[in-house]
Amino acid sequence: MKLKDQKITIIGAGIGGLAAALAFSQQGAKVTVLEQADAIAEVGAGIQVSPNGVAVLRALGLADDLAWCSQRGRAVVLRSHRYGREVLRLDLDHYSPGQNFYFVHRADLIGLLADAVRRRGVRVRLLQKVDRISVAQRSVVHLANGAQCGGDLVVGADGLHSRARIALNGASAPRFTGQVAWRATVANLNNHPPEAQVYMGPGRHLVTYPLRDGGLMNLVAVQERKGWAEESWSHKDDPENLRAAFAGFGGHAAGLLEQVEDVALWGLFRHPVADHWHKGNLAILGDAAHPTLPFMAQGANLALEDSWVLVDALRSAATLEEGLASYQLRRRERAAKVVDAATGNAWKYHLRQPLAWPAHQILRLGGRLAPERM
Ligand code: FAD
Repeated sequence: MKLKDQKITIIGAGIGGLAAALAFSQQGAKVTVLEQADAIAEVGAGIQVSPNGVAVLRALGLADDLAWCSQRGRAVVLRSHRYGREVLRLDLDHYSPGQNFYFVHRADLIGLLADAVRRRGVRVRLLQKVDRISVAQRSVVHLANGAQCGGDLVVGADGLHSRARIALNGASAPRFTGQVAWRATVANLNNHPPEAQVYMGPGRHLVTYPLRDGGLMNLVAVQERKGWAEESWSHKDDPENLRAAFAGFGGHAAGLLEQVEDVALWGLFRHPVADHWHKGNLAILGDAAHPTLPFMAQGANLALEDSWVLVDALRSAATLEEGLASYQLRRRERAAKVVDAATGNAWKYHLRQPLAWPAHQILRLGGRLAPERM
């Protein structure tokens, strides 16, 4: 179907919403983005953009901008927590030759997408909180301020607590995973190389990597816990709680933890992948369709993939209905596979007591990974 002059309303100016806005506007559609926040501002910390996400940004014409504002990742290194000894090194150039893997600040990625959509004349309307959506052949978007709007197509790119997902699937009850995560950024005082370091400890792990030309270090610290915190990216915590939870982490981890002044804490929850990604002229993408745990760093990359495939599926279809059905078919199974893989990784970076391991595993490792040796 022709997308030229189609009126598209996108809910959410996150990574998925802005990428979709750009892809639709490149097809000549008239796009409006509704965002609840009062600014597209500096929120969040590091995101890893893997080659699948880079491919979408390249196709959108943003490869140079991405390279300019990111650190190109060279390796992922697994380390023991106590002394920071190297356990395993994954050289990214070796495993994905010719492919780029970037560490980028979420605000910088949002910023470059927002600049690109504005250059194409997309209207980004701030302070437009969507309250609910009445789904129909011409769905109606009800805003919290009482206004209503719609379009030829409405796309819910409204993230984890999506109203559009509820309109299509009803409410679902997320399950606490038994893990919480802190995230923080600190100055890169020791000129850490462009590598992701994973410090593995008993019941917890810490991931660090540099951002912004190496000037900043991103920290994500995950701990197993019985109680749970709010599922929000902006819940502030006391840095002393982070330091207490990761006391005993050595190597460079100790110095980085010492530097933390501001930290956010969020509870990690499992959500089912949505069964219904479209109905009438409403579709969902990104976290709205398939929230994922951070253990494969794929949330933003999947949202980028969705946005590209949604536009491509509609462009190749005869009708809106056929295009949306093809979009779900092309995306749901893949997204579910990645979400499952991320869930499966949840405990892999946490050391366990060796006596709880099967004998053959202890013999194979020769006790090398036992917590008391690290
Ligand atoms: P999101 O990026 O979550 O974007 C959804 C957008 O929709 C947001 O701008 C939100 O304000 C808007 N929105 C939500 N509800 C409504 C509504 N009712 N009406 C109007 N607008 C609405 N991932 C990381 O790996 N590291 C991070 O540091 C990190 N920080 C984040 C900080 C914030 C504030 C957010 C919202 C997300 C963060 N993420 C982070 C998650 C990551 O960006 C997403 O998993 C991924 O990019 C998927 O993108 P998305 O576009 O589907 O959803």
